[in-house]
Amino acid sequence: MNEPNDSIDPSAHKNFIEVEVEKDMATKPSLSGKHVYTRFPPEPNGYLHIGHAKSICLNFGLAKTYGGKCNLRFDDTNPTKENEEYVNSIMTDVQWLGFQWDKLLYASDYFGQLYDWAVQLIRDGKAFVCDLDAEQMREYRGTLTQPGKNSPFRDRTVEENLDLFARMKAGEFPDGVRTLRAKIDMSNANLNLRDPVMYRIMHAHHHRTGDSWCIYPMYDWAHGQSDSIEGITHSICTLEFENHRPLYDWFCESLKIYHPRQMEFARMNLSYTVMSKRKLLQLVNEKHVNGWDDPRMPTISGLRRRGYTPESLRLFCEKIGVARFSSTIDVILLESSIREHLNAIASRFMAVLDPIKIVLTNYPEDQTEWMEAVNNPEDPEAGARKIPFSRELYIERDDFMETPPSKFFRLKPAGEVRLRYGYIIRCEEVVKDANGNIVQLNCTYDPQTKSGSPDAVERKVKGTIHWVAATHAAAVEVRLYDRLFLGENPEDVPEGKTFLDNINPDSVRVIQAMVEPELAKQPAGARVQFERNGYFCADVKDSKPGAPVYNRIVTLKDTWAKIASKG
Ligand code: ATP
Ligand code: MG
Repeated sequence: MNEPNDSIDPSAHKNFIEVEVEKDMATKPSLSGKHVYTRFPPEPNGYLHIGHAKSICLNFGLAKTYGGKCNLRFDDTNPTKENEEYVNSIMTDVQWLGFQWDKLLYASDYFGQLYDWAVQLIRDGKAFVCDLDAEQMREYRGTLTQPGKNSPFRDRTVEENLDLFARMKAGEFPDGVRTLRAKIDMSNANLNLRDPVMYRIMHAHHHRTGDSWCIYPMYDWAHGQSDSIEGITHSICTLEFENHRPLYDWFCESLKIYHPRQMEFARMNLSYTVMSKRKLLQLVNEKHVNGWDDPRMPTISGLRRRGYTPESLRLFCEKIGVARFSSTIDVILLESSIREHLNAIASRFMAVLDPIKIVLTNYPEDQTEWMEAVNNPEDPEAGARKIPFSRELYIERDDFMETPPSKFFRLKPAGEVRLRYGYIIRCEEVVKDANGNIVQLNCTYDPQTKSGSPDAVERKVKGTIHWVAATHAAAVEVRLYDRLFLGENPEDVPEGKTFLDNINPDSVRVIQAMVEPELAKQPAGARVQFERNGYFCADVKDSKPGAPVYNRIVTLKDTWAKIASKG
């Protein structure tokens, strides 16, 4: 697909960021002899989600494509919201996705340097200590249509600023009473250039620097300089920072330090989910889900526990491409990525989720036959296994209908169906309890129709269904997961409601399924296909040896599309 071809513009296969990166590397004197250097800069204030996976694949992917490097840098400038648990989960997730950082760094590594640079800006008359409180600052700031007003503290002398800034650092002032601000332009059309705050006072314990600091840098003051220190060539971020780019540039220029290029791409949104860490944190804290790694969460840890593979997430990120403008990706694309991967690698097994018993009245009472079953038709090397067949079997309750419509090709009274890897059977009698519920189907089998047998009689029946032998079946817990939210955009709610009102009340259904013996032996983390039912993963937390608990990763087909088209 990507083979070189003179008649095709090679840039046609590249996203706009790759095109720009190549151009920069080839033409910018400041980059001559350098390698592409990127970074992934999460704030450790929550677990990573699928949107972060996009950013990870992009940043680490660029480094890989161009033989460069990518750092993992924690943007830990907000001590009250950040902690070690988040740091560790982020490292786990990045590695699980298949990426290895060049350096592991923290914005807090640079607190000393950032402080020195702030002093430099004060000396140059480009920063000042301001005593306006948050509300006054908003008033002075102006609006999109009106210019702001200079702070009354803007013209403090360099000496006074140096003194006050040193005392801010020394802890002489309470939270919020003073800030250090850049002196730029209160009437600039870009609000980010209206004397933005560089430091705020916050007497808070930091997970790495402890109590050494009580002033903390703002994102804008920390980010570009961190990039600069690390020699990042391309600082890739999401679109909401486009308006911050002039400030990013202003800081690098004013400090006369190496100046990386900030580039923006569109944040990824996914249908039927929320993605901001704040909302995900709310789901966790208010126990709408069982933790950050709940299999219904759009977090990387949730998707991993659900059974998603790193390959499927990378495939998904590749398929959606890199957009310049905001868009919402259909979650169907994510689901089809895991189907595509598991179709290739997952072994097939038989599991009956909603069992009804079948008795083959003409089958010998204590006989067990071992039928040959193909493990994965997509992968000849996956081989075959033997599954037990006996007089009593389970089939899915909805594979039988007492009064079916004309196009129903599964089991019905006096009708025939093929049992996969087994025989053709005929339903002779429907057994009901006192309340009229069907409890058993008495059937006969045709001994001359054994699957794969060389002397089987050729006889066509329209339906084939799966089954398990009642004598050998194991009962296992299965969690049938569905989307966590109803509605394509859960945040699209009428007044007075929140995204929480859009939670799907049936996002998980726990059942006992009857499964073939091999399925009871699968180790935690195993991913398998239950024939005709979907892909499932043995839960890594709740499975016990010999007693796996299965999470449904995804159904085999997109059942939602069917529901939608039926209206
Ligand atoms: P959230 O609002 O979900 O908390 P964030 O942007 O505050 O996300 P960070 O930890 O600051 O989260 O993000 C680390 C990197 O991942 C940033 O470069 C950010 O732009 C990128 N990123 C975050 N969310 C998405 C997304 N939905 N799509 C693409 N990139 C994202
Ligand atoms: Mg953030």
